[in-house]
Amino acid sequence: MIGITSYGAYIPRLRLDRMAIFQAMGWFAPALMMVAQGERSMCNWDEDAITMAVAASRDCLRGQDKQNLDALFVASTTLPFADRQNAGIVSSALNLKANLMTADHTSSQKASTTALISALESIKSGERKNIMVTATDRRETKAAYFYEMWFGDGAASLIAGDTDVIAEYKGSYSVAHEFVDHYRGSDKKYDYVWEERWARDAGYSSIIPEVVNGLFEKLAITMDDVDKLVYPCIFKRDHRNIAAQLGATSDKLIDNMHEVCGETGTAHPFIMFISALEKARPGDRILMIGFGQGANGLLFEVTENITRLTDRNGVAGSLANKKTLNNYLKWLKFRDLIQTEMGIRAEAPTQTATTVLWRKNKMILGLVGGKCRECGTPQFPKMDICVNPECGAFHSQEDYEFADVPARVKTFTADMLSVSVDPPAIYGMLQFEGGGRLMADFTDCELDDLKVGLPVQMAFKRKGVDQERGFVNYFWKAVPIAGAIEEGGALRFDDRVAIVTGAGAGLGRTYALELARRGARVVVNDLGGARNGSGKGSKSPADKVVEQIKKSGGEAVANYDNVATPKGGENIVKTALDAFGRVDILINNAGILRDKSFIKMAPENWKAVLDVHLNGAYFVTRPAMAAMKDNGYGRIVMTTSAAGLYGNFGQTNYSAAKTALVGLMNTLKLEGMKYNIHINTIAPIAASRLTEDVMPPDLFERSKPEFVLPLVMVLCSEACQESGGIFNCGMGYFNRAAILTGPAVQLGDQHHPPTPELIHENWGKIESLDGAREFKEANSAIFALIAPPAAEDAEERSSADDQGSVAAIFGRMPDTFKAEAAAGVDVIFQFNISGKGGGDWYCTIKDKTCTIESGTHKNPACTLKMADADFLAMMAGSLPAMQAYTSGKLKIEGDIMKSQLLEKLFSFGK
Ligand code: NAD
Repeated sequence: MIGITSYGAYIPRLRLDRMAIFQAMGWFAPALMMVAQGERSMCNWDEDAITMAVAASRDCLRGQDKQNLDALFVASTTLPFADRQNAGIVSSALNLKANLMTADHTSSQKASTTALISALESIKSGERKNIMVTATDRRETKAAYFYEMWFGDGAASLIAGDTDVIAEYKGSYSVAHEFVDHYRGSDKKYDYVWEERWARDAGYSSIIPEVVNGLFEKLAITMDDVDKLVYPCIFKRDHRNIAAQLGATSDKLIDNMHEVCGETGTAHPFIMFISALEKARPGDRILMIGFGQGANGLLFEVTENITRLTDRNGVAGSLANKKTLNNYLKWLKFRDLIQTEMGIRAEAPTQTATTVLWRKNKMILGLVGGKCRECGTPQFPKMDICVNPECGAFHSQEDYEFADVPARVKTFTADMLSVSVDPPAIYGMLQFEGGGRLMADFTDCELDDLKVGLPVQMAFKRKGVDQERGFVNYFWKAVPIAGAIEEGGALRFDDRVAIVTGAGAGLGRTYALELARRGARVVVNDLGGARNGSGKGSKSPADKVVEQIKKSGGEAVANYDNVATPKGGENIVKTALDAFGRVDILINNAGILRDKSFIKMAPENWKAVLDVHLNGAYFVTRPAMAAMKDNGYGRIVMTTSAAGLYGNFGQTNYSAAKTALVGLMNTLKLEGMKYNIHINTIAPIAASRLTEDVMPPDLFERSKPEFVLPLVMVLCSEACQESGGIFNCGMGYFNRAAILTGPAVQLGDQHHPPTPELIHENWGKIESLDGAREFKEANSAIFALIAPPAAEDAEERSSADDQGSVAAIFGRMPDTFKAEAAAGVDVIFQFNISGKGGGDWYCTIKDKTCTIESGTHKNPACTLKMADADFLAMMAGSLPAMQAYTSGKLKIEGDIMKSQLLEKLFSFGK
């Protein structure tokens, strides 16, 4: 099978807010307002088509053996050299083998798709096996021009090959027309553009349908056989109209990305294609068209291999890593569109000796240093003598590539005196993992972002430009790893240790990454099984998450145990204790699905789901809670589901297990309370492999796990004082779910149970939830059932309702009266309970009997005054009466000595 085997993308981190262009130049060109939505991507001052091509290619080579490439094509219309092969520079930067064919494809916006067809056809012929095609552009426009708004900078790479194909090549069709909607003379910086209407009508709207229909005819297919349609077109309305003209429904059309980055020239068909691949499912057919003096159409069918592709930035990752500028003058300076005084130092000679460049090619362009064969010490640059003083071996160095080795900032400083397009110049020492140091420039960051120890990655950038001779110098600079700078907000988990089960994918992965980003040390548990829990399992999901955390400077260990066994649960907690010495946070998240309608629900499917969700939570929480209890702190999150809380066809096993977790939480919250262990439950809605075929596609698109994440972070934090809550969350929406209990209706009497007929007659009252309440423990609920508060009391909701009602306690007071202790006692206690749930009651004890009445007695022996919440706590036994009195929570008027009888006469809280 022949097709695409890998992809990668690079969209510069900087984005220019289009309103900044309008605000600066709207006085001159007010019509700019029409296209001033969103932001366009823009190269940093030290980036160009070559540096972006290298970045996209490195992304594309993740998980690939680069030595397998036997050709590299670079497509662009903005290459810095007209006669020095630009693909050769990219190849040197990537350290590709010498036995390689390199070529530049240029002079048309369709150069990228032409290069890709050539690559695919060359593989088809059997001549070559793996060809990387990189498309990249940084187009210049005059200031205050529509095209300044429309264009963006970016690059994308695709590998064409015949092994592990992720998108099978089904065929191509091309048309060539000498249609000149714009051109750029070879000695000119800017495009000359003809009237837009003409470009739209005679260009896009005519040539794109021609190539699409030609391809359909060639492959004997119709638009029904296409799932996604990719073609760049800067005119938003025409972009949509062409799809309609071709009979494609709007869901097939891949967005032209005007709002998020703008049109990236030759790279744009690839960028849009990759954006389609990122959301594609096996079997999807994607049609890609490149337009420019004719057009190329290529059809691909996505395969199962796409699910196995190594993680990469791609288009989505590149778009997520951004800094938006609204300084239009900075944009002009970075593009060299305004002249500024650069100072006398900028006049220093900049000529590059190509002799040296040739001799040191690997070192300068490939960042290749040396590694001692004797002692294994890496060093940069490679030298005749090993840098290790203990070794000092001669001529012992073999090539060692530093570009992909993780590094951290060892020292740094900033300097306003050096020549810099974006002062201050920031530079410092890097320490590479495993050894090796390099004095390097920092880029794509601000001075305030840097700190010693910050993880950085190496990036191929422009070092300087010899304007006089037209030569661009490149070298490697250090860029802080995306996400490493923003260390999270005020909600931090420094010194906390978290366990996340099922953290190799989906929601769990998101939690683990964010906890680590906010300072927690994380145990990333994942068995790595199939969606239904079958299969032998794999270490790689957990390992990948740990690797990602470490790359961003966090701390994590992987655990591959099965939550569904007692041993597995113990090992998971042991992993945390062995690695980090404690457990503070546990997120019970691992999950599987085995959906079947109930009659077809075989016992093994029932059991498998209960084992993972319910038993799994039990097996992990028990040892975790023991560890938390020792520290007097813990936050536990359970994961239930709307299917369990409300029901969902075909998920009886899952619903039972998920709601059982709510039961587990309800009691555990009471047991955890005194150890400061808080337990809450979430019912998430998120796009993951568990929901890909359960959720409607448009909902799936909008349901990133990141929208569930913030709530879980709050529930895991010290700031969370809630315990026992159930929260629905998804797509940025949140609400609390609770079990509500309606007011009790007493039927029959103490001696005569009601008849079924009486129940039936009163059905409306029994099932009514009017005035329903939420109870946070069983006793309050039972008391409310057997001693319902007076109707008027039910109207008033107390802040202390959660813990049972004050009225209910007075209702059951006679039941807790110890008549044997009341011999000879004749006393009246008055209770004045403040707060919404409060009221006045008095208790008369006489002749070994106790009666309670609401209201105020005119002559009590003593009066006890308390807030409703304190009263409930005292009655539940969690606030000793003496403590309540000495702390001022209980005020006693009258005969204080008499009040001491209360503890003898009643058995509350026991
Ligand atoms: P997911 O399949 O992407 O992730 C679940 C992870 O759990 C997988 O990586 C899997 O390997 C791991 N896992 C499964 N069994 C395991 C076991 N025995 N031991 C250790 N790891 C195991 O699913 P997701 O959507 O991220 O789901 C996460 C949790 O959220 C699940 O409990 C799920 O039931 C619940 N949930 C999800 C949604 C949703 O909309 N995604 C809705 C309601 C509830």
